[in-house]
Amino acid sequence: MLRNQLRDHLDQLLEVARFHDYCPNGLQVEGRADVERIVCGVSASQALLDAALAQGADAILVHHGWFWKSEDGRVVGHRKRRLATVLGRDVSLFAYHLPLDAHPQLGNNAQLAKLLGWKIDGRFAEQEIGFLGSCDSATAADLASALARALDREPFLAGDGARPLARIAWCSGGAQDYYEQAIAAGADCYVSGEISEHNVHVARETGVPYIAAGHHATERYGVQALAAHLREKFGVDCRYVDIDNPV
Ligand SMILES: [Zn+2]
Repeated sequence: MLRNQLRDHLDQLLEVARFHDYCPNGLQVEGRADVERIVCGVSASQALLDAALAQGADAILVHHGWFWKSEDGRVVGHRKRRLATVLGRDVSLFAYHLPLDAHPQLGNNAQLAKLLGWKIDGRFAEQEIGFLGSCDSATAADLASALARALDREPFLAGDGARPLARIAWCSGGAQDYYEQAIAAGADCYVSGEISEHNVHVARETGVPYIAAGHHATERYGVQALAAHLREKFGVDCRYVDIDNPV
């Protein structure tokens, strides 16, 4: 398929124009015009780029791309190496950040719910990134155990593990800042990828436990759902490569 056809399809599907984000979404680095093989991953690290090139990728598709607003924009050191890797081989880099957290079917939060069997019944936080719903686990500690089994890593539980759960809120990745909005939305427990020091105090003081299940671990599934969608819709060779990250 054509690179620009892929770009236009993804931009529209993921409603890129609707989001205010910390990075550009869509085609971040332009490579060759024809795309037959796409390698997907969570983050556009050098390890993913190297794996993609070894597998003959024409394009790389990730959740965490480059050119973050807070970043030093100079193309030196590891940034030079990364850019040279894709530009030197004429390979495109596509990145979808918040649009891929929020998508109602293919997004990280929807896919996390699917994996855990959670029922979605609402959204919260700015741009409706966070999800609300219910789960089969009776308590926060039970929910942490279910996450450990599903994600194959031990989550960190802050606060009251015995709290009974009627309503839960979740937002994948580094969504510490949405915790208090989750409490305000009536959640009995909040699940995200990462946790900060101050969140632990809030968990103790409000009685709403916080489960940090891993940034990478909670964001592996959106890009895999997107890859499956592209295979089905366009018959393109689209494969996921996991570059593990303990955070
Ligand atoms: Zn993330």
